[in-house]
Amino acid sequence: MGRIGHFAVGLAAKPVAPKVSLGVLFLATWLLDVLAIAFAFAGIEGVKSGIPWSHGLFMSVIWSVVAAFLTARIYREYRAGAVVGLLVLSHWVLDFISHPIPFSSYSWRSWQWSFGNPLPPDLPLLFGGSPKV
Ligand SMILES: [Zn+2]
Repeated sequence: MGRIGHFAVGLAAKPVAPKVSLGVLFLATWLLDVLAIAFAFAGIEGVKSGIPWSHGLFMSVIWSVVAAFLTARIYREYRAGAVVGLLVLSHWVLDFISHPIPFSSYSWRSWQWSFGNPLPPDLPLLFGGSPKV
C-alpha cells in the first residue's frame, strides 16, 4: 500500500498513544516495508523468493510482537507497546486489502496494471511455498 495510507493509520493512533512520538508511530506502520527493503538488499527476499520474511502473515505477527515488546520496554508503558504492535500488524492488513501492487515484484520492467491480466497474490501466509493471498 502507498506510504500515505500506512501513515494515516499512524496519525490516527497518536491520540491513543500520546507518549509515543509521531516518528515512531510512522515507523511502526512502515516497519514491514523497511524490512522488505533491507531484506531485498541483503538478498533474502526478491523477485524469485517473494517477501515471506517481511510480509508473510506469520512473520508480520512476530515483528508486531517484537515491536510491541520493545516499545513497551522503552516507554515503560503497556499501552504504547500495544498501539505500536497493532500499527505494525495494520500494515499487513492494509497490504492485504490493497495488494498485489506492481512494484511488489521489485522490478520496474514488470510494472503493469491489472487490465485483464491480474497480478498473482504476493502476501504469503507462512514462508516460501506457502499459500499467498
Ligand atoms: Zn508493505
